[in-house]
Amino acid sequence: MSTVRVRFAPSPTGDLHVGGARTALFNWLFARHHGGTFVLRIEDTDAARSTEAATQVILDALEYLKLDWDEGPGKEGDFGPYYQSRRLDLYKKYASELMGRGRAYHCYCTPEELDQRRQEQIKAGESTRYDGRCRNLTAEEKQAFAAEGRVPVIRFKSLEEGATVVEDLVRGTVTFDNVTQVDDFVIFKSDGMPTYNFAVVVDDALMKISHVIRGDDHLSNTPKQIQIYEALGFKTPTFAHIPMILGPDKSLLSKRHGATSVTQFYDDGYLAEAMVNYLALLGWGYDDSQTIFSIPDLIAKFSLERVSKNPAVFDKQKLEWMNGVYIRELSLEELYEVCLPFCQKEGLLPAEVSPELKAYTLKVLEQLQSRLKLVADVVALASYFYIDDYEYKPEIVQKILTKPQTEDILNFVHAAVKDAAKLDEEHLKPQFQLGLEKYGIKMGDLIQPIRVALTGTNVSPGIYDVLELLGKEKVLARIERTLDMLKKEELL
Ligand code: GLU
Repeated sequence: MSTVRVRFAPSPTGDLHVGGARTALFNWLFARHHGGTFVLRIEDTDAARSTEAATQVILDALEYLKLDWDEGPGKEGDFGPYYQSRRLDLYKKYASELMGRGRAYHCYCTPEELDQRRQEQIKAGESTRYDGRCRNLTAEEKQAFAAEGRVPVIRFKSLEEGATVVEDLVRGTVTFDNVTQVDDFVIFKSDGMPTYNFAVVVDDALMKISHVIRGDDHLSNTPKQIQIYEALGFKTPTFAHIPMILGPDKSLLSKRHGATSVTQFYDDGYLAEAMVNYLALLGWGYDDSQTIFSIPDLIAKFSLERVSKNPAVFDKQKLEWMNGVYIRELSLEELYEVCLPFCQKEGLLPAEVSPELKAYTLKVLEQLQSRLKLVADVVALASYFYIDDYEYKPEIVQKILTKPQTEDILNFVHAAVKDAAKLDEEHLKPQFQLGLEKYGIKMGDLIQPIRVALTGTNVSPGIYDVLELLGKEKVLARIERTLDMLKKEELL
């Protein structure tokens, strides 16, 4: 069994975003590549902001992306429970241990006092840091503060000289000055909860995490964490800080740039395989030429050595394109399965689909497969195959159905369809050609109004495919309806 143990440690305070999903993926790929263990740990010590609903969103998002965990919620492991809120005794134990070793102390400074001193430091042009005032309080001083009703926090006694060095697998050697970059930070808050920087160390150590792979934004926390590992005599894991994700304007990716939550991508109809492929390329690449990676291929090829230091740019169009690639690779049956919930949600298909309706739907999907970028698009693209009183798009009616010969052309096609033995190209095209001569028009001038009459829009699969799929009865009724509406000027 490999000794590689990695973890994804989200805080359940909101949706899982692209950056978090990418962190989860890199950890998962690293674990699977090395035959190691992927741990999921819910960091829910911020009681005010953590919710069960947000935890569920994270679990659902990981399930959608098929990033299965080996230990964590729902999966017993030797090092659980995997919710930090259920591990408070452990954090208390190690905080006491630090106190016992003289590496932590109670601090009674109030937020107001701290803020005032921070302002003074800013005014004096100094770096803002805790000034160590409560480091050496006497028992009497502590009592006096307690008598005032002050509830202490616990601070870590950080190193007062030298440097803390992070040997990062992605960033290389990063050196932090202990005096200016690591102050006596809080490890236990006055509400009795540990802070992130403390709980994360206790857990990563106890859970025997070998590699901490996480976003670059945590790099500045790492020297603090390393000092705690060392103070507690724990083995320090290997770190790999992966680059930030930017929007197209090169600012940090955020909601301003559109959908960034995994749930939204699921709702929009991105396939898990496409998402995973795309997320993998945010900061990682194999070589300059390969863009499409199956999941087994990613597992085989993923390595932290090929993770870039530079920020990655999130390109929604590329993701959309990639989704289209994966949609085209699906068998019709698979495409049906992924489209079904979208069609049912929008009422195109009932909860129970009869074999006939399924067979019809497979034919519809065969026509649409090459046009789908998002699975959710199926609803708009397929609606007229299911709904007879679809709406006509006004601008298209204006452009196509207001031409002088429209009614004649529609009547002509109506007659041709009525007489045809079969509504396929072989039977209909020669008839349509007669119409071209009769009206002195091109094939497009004949097809466009029929397409609008049959679908309400001017984009659809090939017209003969649409005709054949809809069948004679519907085609005639739809042409009649369009003619009728044109006459009553209801379309304009
Ligand atoms: N709960 C932290 C976060 O969501 C985890 C950071 C880490 O991986 O250490 O940012």
